[in-house]
Amino acid sequence: NDNLLKKIIAHAKEYGFIFPSSEIYDGLSATYDYGQNGVELKNNIKNYWWKSMVQMHENIVGIDAAIFMHPTTWKASGHVDAFNDPLIDNRDSKKRYRADVLIEDHIAKIENKIKKEVEKAAKRFGDQFDKEQFLSTNPRVLQNQEKIDQINQRLKTATEQNDLEGIKKIIEDLEIADPVSGSKNWTEVRQFNLMFSTELGSLAEDANKIYLRPETAQGIFVNFLNVQKTGRMKIPFGIAQIGKAFRNEIIARQFIFRMREFEQMEMQFFVKPGEEMKWYEYWKEARMKWHKALGMEDDRYRFHDHLNLAHYANAACDIEFNFPMGFKELEGIHSRTDFDLKAHEEYSGKKLQFFDPQENKSYVPYVIETSIGLDRMFLALLSRAYTEETLEDGSERVVLRIPPMLAPNKVAILPLVNKDGLPEKAREILDCLKYDFNCQHDTKDAIGRRYRRQDAIGTPICVTVDHQTLEDNTVTLRYRDSMKQDRVSIETALKDKINKEVS
Ligand code: ATP
Repeated sequence: NDNLLKKIIAHAKEYGFIFPSSEIYDGLSATYDYGQNGVELKNNIKNYWWKSMVQMHENIVGIDAAIFMHPTTWKASGHVDAFNDPLIDNRDSKKRYRADVLIEDHIAKIENKIKKEVEKAAKRFGDQFDKEQFLSTNPRVLQNQEKIDQINQRLKTATEQNDLEGIKKIIEDLEIADPVSGSKNWTEVRQFNLMFSTELGSLAEDANKIYLRPETAQGIFVNFLNVQKTGRMKIPFGIAQIGKAFRNEIIARQFIFRMREFEQMEMQFFVKPGEEMKWYEYWKEARMKWHKALGMEDDRYRFHDHLNLAHYANAACDIEFNFPMGFKELEGIHSRTDFDLKAHEEYSGKKLQFFDPQENKSYVPYVIETSIGLDRMFLALLSRAYTEETLEDGSERVVLRIPPMLAPNKVAILPLVNKDGLPEKAREILDCLKYDFNCQHDTKDAIGRRYRRQDAIGTPICVTVDHQTLEDNTVTLRYRDSMKQDRVSIETALKDKINKEVS
């Protein structure tokens, strides 16, 4: 809900996770800066992804390509001609929408009607209820399903043919109203290219126009042969990359969910033509497993299979996450066929093929892509982690239950009082832990308040140094989630205990 998102935005700012960009100038819309805790969390997400995608797969390697690419790249990829959003304005509310999204929202409403019918019938028939049979025989359901199929078909045709009037006609025929004002007074549909452009060098001529990449994938495709040859890679193999991408989103909103400058973690997996569906299914499952391994509730995720496919795909789905604003796309898995490599062959005049020694012939590989937004993953973690709790003594705390492995700081070392040699002892412990763990050291305020501060940034363990520590070299460990405490020996148990908790 909106309220939760607002709280998360405020919390992220107050605790150094995310600041509005150039805030002293009142910010720049849909652009954000990551603060001292945000950058640690972001790096940990990147590492987790990189380790499981690159290090754990001997047939996947990484690259880091430039953001600027030869302008022909974007002609070949289709972005110059087809990376367009159809926009429509409402004359009364003056609000601007993506026309296709308005239509998809309308479809979702009809889908909801079907869902309600099913729920009603399930209640009525109890154990006797046969969902499949109900869906294929109930007249109201069939009628609605037919409506959905028709709208989908029309949208698909209009999109494929770039028929803007056709898209407008769908909105009119369905009598779709502005969700804000309820008005049906729409303008024409217009096309808007999402790529940012700039000039190379000092001459502002069209020939020097280059783009900020709107996806990292193309940097991988143009390096396909470089990596395959120098790495002696054999099909199937993958190339992974983490990097910035830029899109001039019209409707940038919902915090870091939709930004104009964001980061992607993408992997392109090159396979033998004809085997793409097998690998598509493989990566669908593998990526879902990756998410679920983080220990967030399974029902926060779902697949959404695409009916309207992009020009390059023969199968595609999203992994959706239940954000505060509902289920939304977090990651895309696409079967991109040989569209990209073939197009680059055509535009560059260079062969981009793999010689298969078993078949004794060359072919252009097919590609399965997994593409996840780093910032969206960050938001998913933050919205799952943010918890307000009332404690037994009636006091309240806000705790970020970030999976310990990803927490920005693993340990906080806190001298009980700021005297009697305790700060010095705390520093000694810090100096021995800092090589293995990102640590905090905090001496200000009463210990209870310091625990709260660590809870609020998601630190899994606090190490408290007290007078007894000076006598027997033991410390108190205090755990973020349970708030339980534990006394351990610095020499024999401290590192092991921390390791167990955070890895
Ligand atoms: P959407 O439908 O939400 O615009 P998309 O289908 O255009 O997303 P892709 O082109 O498949 O997205 O990009 C892959 C991933 O990159 C998305 O799943 C998302 O996590 C991330 N992403 C895309 N656009 C943005 C953005 N403007 N801000 C933040 N992350 C983004």
